[in-house]
Amino acid sequence: MTVATPRFDRTLSRPEMSIVDAIRLNGPHSRTELARMLDYSRASMTGYVNRLLSAQIVREIGQGRSGGGRRPSLLDLNSSLGYLAGVDIGATSLNIALADFQGRILSQHSEPADVRVEPEALLAPMAEKLSDMLRVQGATPDRLIALGIGVPGPVEFSAARLIAPPLMPLWDGFSIRDYLQEIFPLANTVVDNDVNIMAVGEKVAGAGKPFENFLFIKIGTGIGAGIVANGQIYRGSNGCAGDIGHICVDYNGPICHCGNQGCLEAMAGGLAIGQRGQRLAAAGQSAFLAERLAKNGQVTSIDVGEAAAFGDTHANALIKESGRMIGGVLASLVNFYNPEAIFIGGGVTRIGHRLLSSIRQATLRRSNPLSTRDLRVEYSQLGEDAAVQGAIALALKHVFVLDES
Ligand SMILES: [Zn+2]
Repeated sequence: MTVATPRFDRTLSRPEMSIVDAIRLNGPHSRTELARMLDYSRASMTGYVNRLLSAQIVREIGQGRSGGGRRPSLLDLNSSLGYLAGVDIGATSLNIALADFQGRILSQHSEPADVRVEPEALLAPMAEKLSDMLRVQGATPDRLIALGIGVPGPVEFSAARLIAPPLMPLWDGFSIRDYLQEIFPLANTVVDNDVNIMAVGEKVAGAGKPFENFLFIKIGTGIGAGIVANGQIYRGSNGCAGDIGHICVDYNGPICHCGNQGCLEAMAGGLAIGQRGQRLAAAGQSAFLAERLAKNGQVTSIDVGEAAAFGDTHANALIKESGRMIGGVLASLVNFYNPEAIFIGGGVTRIGHRLLSSIRQATLRRSNPLSTRDLRVEYSQLGEDAAVQGAIALALKHVFVLDES
């Protein structure tokens, strides 16, 4: 049986876009209520709504409360229009979420992945899994209308491709959008770097909701920042704003994979903390870490966190020093940008409160007192979910295109 594909016009005028956004944010409303909310005359409202109804973007449901006379029908988004997906491609994992047209997650899937492979070797099985998830909902791949993807590398946002990504060199210049267009012909594909995606997730579904200006700091193997300014992601002129992992914290420090010396990420990123812990083990300064090294053949940043919790003095000093270096850079960002909050996520947060308190201390000590009066410095509560939530939110934002003419 073939199911007819609903073709819809994704170009909306500004008033049509604001009606769709108002329903999405506030739930079903009558024409009169929407006209009042958006300050449109009833006559223009009727015109906009008729077009949205004929394009099947909104539909009439049930009836609302009457102000006397006939009860008005309510307008809601047509959730059968299609599906959205959010995909978080991490350095070592792949997370996929399928959502309805309103952004509500219907199903989720996670698996280990290796981004060092050719793009097709990761994207083909990802697309197959996503098609399976659609099939479970009784839908074909052409029912996917928007796809948000987060990747661990610098992204040229307008072209949806990575540019010279250190963790995934084989993806350099590869058009993720063109590749996926073949499989999901109606999906508008948007690609952004993982930290921006997490910042969007924190804004729509996490502790960032009430804030218009905040930073999301991801500390994983590397370190990066997502910048939310006036409620929107700030990407900079080429799309790579927030690459704070390569700010120099020690001109005599170790060589970073970027070729420079003493970058924050080479001094205090997850990999660096693990390597420094391993040196403590090898030098006989930590019995706890020596045991981990003998057992697993390496020491990770999480091992260092556990050693510190166990009372290991050198591991504790290493975490404090890492927190101090990260906090020092965050203080510069606070002085420069004056955010309301800083949320910290990524695998290294599993080290726990010791790292957070030294980051917080260094940030507050080195920032301008006025800018820290109300500043919150916290771990993100969304964990791994921040990324897929953000990818869905990004997809949701790109279902429609604004007609600027
Ligand atoms: Zn570097």
